[in-house]
Amino acid sequence: MGYAPIKKDVNKTHRPANMLSYQHSYDNFKWHKAKAMIRGYKGGINMGYEAADRHVDDGFGSQEALIFLDQKKTRKALSYTQLQQMSNRFANLLKSVNVEKGDLLCSLTDRTPILYAAVIGCLKSAVVFSPLFSAFGSEPIKARMTIGGAVALLTSGKLYKKKIAAWRNECPSLKTVLLYECEGECPSDCIDLDQTLETQSDLFNIYATDPEDKALIHFTSGTTGTPKAVVHVHDAVIYHKYSGYYALDIHPQDVYWCTADPGWVTGISYGVISPLCNRATLIVDNAEYDANRWYSILEQEHVNIWYTAPTAIRMLMKAGNELCEQYDLSALRFLASVGEPLNPEAVVWSQKHLGNVFHDNWWQTETGGIMLANFMSEDVRPGSMGRPLPGIQAGIVRVDEQGHLVELSKPNETGELAFKKGWPSMFRDYLHESKRYQACFNGDWYLSGDLAYKDQDGYFWFVGRRSDLIKSSGHLIGPFEIESVLLEHPAVAEAGVVGVPDAIAGELVKAFIALKDGYEDDPALRKSIMAHARKKLGSALAPREISVKQNLPKTRSGKIMRRLLKARELGLPEGDISTLESD
Ligand code: ATP
Ligand code: MG
Repeated sequence: MGYAPIKKDVNKTHRPANMLSYQHSYDNFKWHKAKAMIRGYKGGINMGYEAADRHVDDGFGSQEALIFLDQKKTRKALSYTQLQQMSNRFANLLKSVNVEKGDLLCSLTDRTPILYAAVIGCLKSAVVFSPLFSAFGSEPIKARMTIGGAVALLTSGKLYKKKIAAWRNECPSLKTVLLYECEGECPSDCIDLDQTLETQSDLFNIYATDPEDKALIHFTSGTTGTPKAVVHVHDAVIYHKYSGYYALDIHPQDVYWCTADPGWVTGISYGVISPLCNRATLIVDNAEYDANRWYSILEQEHVNIWYTAPTAIRMLMKAGNELCEQYDLSALRFLASVGEPLNPEAVVWSQKHLGNVFHDNWWQTETGGIMLANFMSEDVRPGSMGRPLPGIQAGIVRVDEQGHLVELSKPNETGELAFKKGWPSMFRDYLHESKRYQACFNGDWYLSGDLAYKDQDGYFWFVGRRSDLIKSSGHLIGPFEIESVLLEHPAVAEAGVVGVPDAIAGELVKAFIALKDGYEDDPALRKSIMAHARKKLGSALAPREISVKQNLPKTRSGKIMRRLLKARELGLPEGDISTLESD
């Protein structure tokens, strides 16, 4: 991509315990190192035990596990012992109302302590947990709960009245509704958590879960179509812990902040399970994004590790360089990003203005954990997703017309990003769609649906999703490269590129952009952006047309919905937009 690697100062980054030397461990990795990080419980594995109780058993119960900041930034801390007890009370309550092993509990909450107790409480009870975005409307909530066959729901009194009450009886599997903050009288067919939880015992006998017992169901982001219900099992905790340590550098007592909404897989796997397993202290901010607030949290809480998403980074960049330089961010040690391609411009910006570089990493709901990462001890290549975690075998493949999979061995050849089966957090099914699940595999390989290439040093570079590729005059064009170039222009805050039909070229590249604060859309500005794109990309790749929007349509997990930009452009049906956030 033309950006020089960002060199690491090994003296600064070297952590003997975390120097699982890349080359050494990659050969013959048998997962034993990762498995050894897990204690196990009653001969099985329990995700909830590893996240909370284990640390109390080890004598660290008084350490702060979670620090909650409300809208006014009032601080409330829960220690590991308090988390253990609160989750035990939740587990006992589930037991008392016969919500049992294998039943599904959905949550529809903001970032409140009860959510964290519920995640751990469900896992300890072998009840399957599935988070939903609290900002979902009634329809997407109902659809997901019906697909999942939800037996229980955790939500607030307010959200219940607004989004659930009207259709509750149309979801026959749903038997228990647990409400916090009832605000007035609790409906008679619901349980008032604020009253009943306190009456439950602090002690709970954790269920002896088998590694293959279901633990979590996550719905995908819905970027490419209707979301899928992805099934994960307790065994995944091995990978959650392992990858949090090696890819995010989480060590005991680190102050860790993951900004992802808990309604999305990142918000649970790396917003709850992985950092708790690694005994960090987690910051939980229950407020909307605000650049000032975010920087002040990083400063005041002395955050060491920050895991966020490209959309957020682009918003911070949009807010200007002067702002971040007003804050003392010297406690920050490791910055990482996931969810969308991280444009090289953002990596270079973070190095310059935050004094620390964003480490891109790649994974998806189906992989259950980070698969490719820029590591703390290695140079960061801006624009690259990094290299596979030790133990992960990643390849660039193509499936030929006979359905045979061919691994592309030459560097820099674009193909589908694929992984050899067998890592612990690999998804075990798409609920009720096992055929679709099986179609993701070819022999030993799991096919991700993303296109990428690998350079001669083994770094992987994102090209685009299979469904977003543009075919123009015989070229196959990935949107990421074009979007990254557009973002280099000082006026461009966001970019989404799609192909629109053209009689001669097949498809033409069209770009949708949003401008940074302080810039106005006018012909001279568009001309300057076009000229920049042509200079950098050449006329074959440069967009033929640029459309300026206030905002680009995004999923709730912050991904630009290119399919929606395209459908709107062509006047086609919008498809499933249940996860659409902003426009
Ligand atoms: P759906 O499968 O419903 O269309 P989705 O794929 O967006 O939604 P997720 O599982 O939340 O749902 O997102 C995973 C996808 O996000 C990856 O397949 C990839 O396309 C994109 N992604 C994640 N991290 C990165 C990254 N570092 N660089 C580029 N793309 C990324
Ligand atoms: Mg996907």
